[in-house]
Amino acid sequence: YAKHSRKNMVQMFESGMDERRLRRQKLAVSLQAAIEQDQLVLHYQPIFRLDSGGIESVEALLRWHSEEHGTVSPLELIAVAEQHGLAHRLNEWVLLQACRQLNRWHQDGFGWLKVNVNISPNIFMDGELAITVRQVLHDTGLDASTLVLEITEDTSMWDTMGSIDTLQELRELGIEIALDDFGTGYSSFSHLRQLPLNKLKIDKSFVADLSTDPRAVSLVKTIISLAESLDMSVTAEGIELPEQQAQLQLLGCQLGQGYLLARPMPVEDMSDLLSQNHHYRFRTA
Ligand code: C2E
Ligand code: MG
Ligand code: MG
Ligand code: MG
Repeated sequence: YAKHSRKNMVQMFESGMDERRLRRQKLAVSLQAAIEQDQLVLHYQPIFRLDSGGIESVEALLRWHSEEHGTVSPLELIAVAEQHGLAHRLNEWVLLQACRQLNRWHQDGFGWLKVNVNISPNIFMDGELAITVRQVLHDTGLDASTLVLEITEDTSMWDTMGSIDTLQELRELGIEIALDDFGTGYSSFSHLRQLPLNKLKIDKSFVADLSTDPRAVSLVKTIISLAESLDMSVTAEGIELPEQQAQLQLLGCQLGQGYLLARPMPVEDMSDLLSQNHHYRFRTA
């Protein structure tokens, strides 16, 4: 009986795998068309200076609602793109759209605004990124210092010297680099010492525990002073509660983003937020 049921389970598991693979294959076909037909959308979430409440930057976040597949999460989108050789085009599309939009906002009088663009790790590693970024900066005429690329530490890419070269090339273009989801991945102190990074983004899991766990407070405190001593700025992700915001302000965290302050939103809403008030500020806690 046990053997029989295990066999059933294996079959169920395998057919589950097939279904998933099939879904991904269909997704990949639709995704390719969506990229070509500009059906993907970027939403933007503001990143605030926690001391003054002013906006520093906006993070571009991919959104896709497909007629066939419904709403597909960006993480699944990225995974599908990577598995089916679409990662380059997807990342280039995001980069170009985000830079074009930032240019429009600059022309509308918000010249101080920056944009943060997420880049998939394997794109980051292939060495052509600097060429793409240079091209996009040239085509859009954007001031390089207003572009921030976010890379996750959730990869072993840090073991290759090539990554350091890529980072250096990117920095030479005048853009900034942020290490995303800091604290959850593979970065070590020696990476932090070697890599020319400008910003650390504290992963939201640490921020979530801030109001309940004294150890999370200690860790965040340590990350902030570590970043300061390495001349990097710190952004806290995933601020959902006033207590978390207050705690981060107390600890001297410079920048923050999260549902409490503002959710990711469509371009039009972001434009409204920017123009409603030149000095838009979140409600201070
Ligand atoms: P990420 O870069 O760490 O982005 C932050 C994620 O946290 C976003 O999820 C955002 O919507 C969400 N978030 C913001 N505030 C809060 C909060 O207060 N609480 C919680 N629980 N979540 C919050 P999203 O948009 O679903 O994106 C997930 C991940 O997908 C991103 O994580 C990033 O790694 C990847 N991603 C999104 N857009 C792109 C893209 O254009 N290109 C690439 N390569 N990756 C992308
Ligand atoms: Mg990010
Ligand atoms: Mg993150
Ligand atoms: Mg992430």
